[in-house]
Amino acid sequence: MKDDEKEFNDHEAQCSRCGKCCRVKMLWFDGSVKLAGYCEFYDEKKKECMCYDQRFMVCNHCLTVFDAMKQGGLPPTCEYVKHFPGYRSEIPDSEWEKK
Ligand code: SF4
Ligand code: SF4
Repeated sequence: MKDDEKEFNDHEAQCSRCGKCCRVKMLWFDGSVKLAGYCEFYDEKKKECMCYDQRFMVCNHCLTVFDAMKQGGLPPTCEYVKHFPGYRSEIPDSEWEKK
């Protein structure tokens, strides 16, 4: 296995599959961001994406982890960012905890 492939797999293995990054984000009238359900491609029963390999081609709002990080669109509990110094989600913790 190539080094970059191994690094990618190690990185993917960090994901706890909580599904929170697949919540739909809505910009509210007061400028805040609220969460509204899940992406149409997210299977809530299986807790997985139904189009993972093609997600960036079929879903126009799916972001790479790096883009989601840059936009503050991952929950503070996300495995990718919880040890990342200075990371701040644009969405309040209380919103992430809502079902
Ligand atoms: S929020 Fe983070 S840990 Fe949860 S499913 Fe998304 S990438 Fe994985
Ligand atoms: S397309 Fe993207 S946002 Fe939608 S369920 Fe799949 S990984 Fe999540």
